[in-house]
Amino acid sequence: MRAMILEKPGTPLRLIERPDPQPGPGQLQVKIAACGVCRTDLHVVDGDLTEPKLPIIPGHEIVGNVSALGVGVEGFGIGDRIGIPWLGHTCGRCSFCRSGAENLCDEPGFTGYQIDGGYADMTVADARYCFALGSDRSDAELAPLLCAGLIGYRSLVMAGDDSSRLGIYGFGAAAHIVAQVARYQQRELYAFTSPGDATAQRFALELGAAWAGGSDQPAPVELDAAIIFAPVGPLVPAALRAVRKGGVVVCGGIHMSDIPSFPYSILWGERVLRSVANLTRQDAIDFLELAPKVPVQTRIEEFPLQQANQALQALRDSKLTGAAVLSPC
Ligand SMILES: [Zn+2]
Ligand SMILES: [Zn+2]
Repeated sequence: MRAMILEKPGTPLRLIERPDPQPGPGQLQVKIAACGVCRTDLHVVDGDLTEPKLPIIPGHEIVGNVSALGVGVEGFGIGDRIGIPWLGHTCGRCSFCRSGAENLCDEPGFTGYQIDGGYADMTVADARYCFALGSDRSDAELAPLLCAGLIGYRSLVMAGDDSSRLGIYGFGAAAHIVAQVARYQQRELYAFTSPGDATAQRFALELGAAWAGGSDQPAPVELDAAIIFAPVGPLVPAALRAVRKGGVVVCGGIHMSDIPSFPYSILWGERVLRSVANLTRQDAIDFLELAPKVPVQTRIEEFPLQQANQALQALRDSKLTGAAVLSPC
């Protein structure tokens, strides 16, 4: 197999060849067709997230076809198209796992962080954390659903069913998927981009936003809820100022710069500030069932696998409209 590997945070990924991984008990061997590039990968590569297995193959938005089955695998056959997301392992025993919050497991394993991921042409994965994918889209178009879609969807659920005026701060891969689901649910969408990012604002309007502007602008209406996808701490007080009494601000990212102090008055009025961490398998089941009904259409920019460093740089520089996807070819 070929893979782009991270040996040390802060250094470029390197193309390597190694023997094909063999599926252990309960695992699938998967021939990778596409892998999305998520901002979390950037946090791993840049060293913002400090617990990677090293060396590690990044990537947790994997679409591929089952090429071999380990002993005891049920529910999958050779050739099935499947998705492999960020949640790669949970302990099944801790209080979180036992209470339906496996996303908060005390001993988790995450794909592309502690478990080798999808910047490769082959991988193995625990079948219990893999999901069958429909046939309605190309491999590359489906890849961003596996994290931007799933965690974006979990963030949207946390924003509350009654949040009809929804703000989104940071209009990248997750936002462009959430926007489509939010419009399908007949919510009004307000998109806040980096100040002056006319391309992202146009993109948001194309996807049905009622308004798009810079995050330095006040919201044109009082919002019921806001989701922050940009890893920018100062957006937290900005979003709190934009939501109504009882409104919710959801931080959808895994890493964020420090949040500046703010007056209690912008939280008061029973406003809620919360984060979203990881995903549960139920989130994946729910979202993958919903996506074809919307139907979610992803905007992607494809890069060959060996250009993973260029794809990460494009994301770092905010040069992408939609999501970057790597294809081994
Ligand atoms: Zn657990
Ligand atoms: Zn991700």
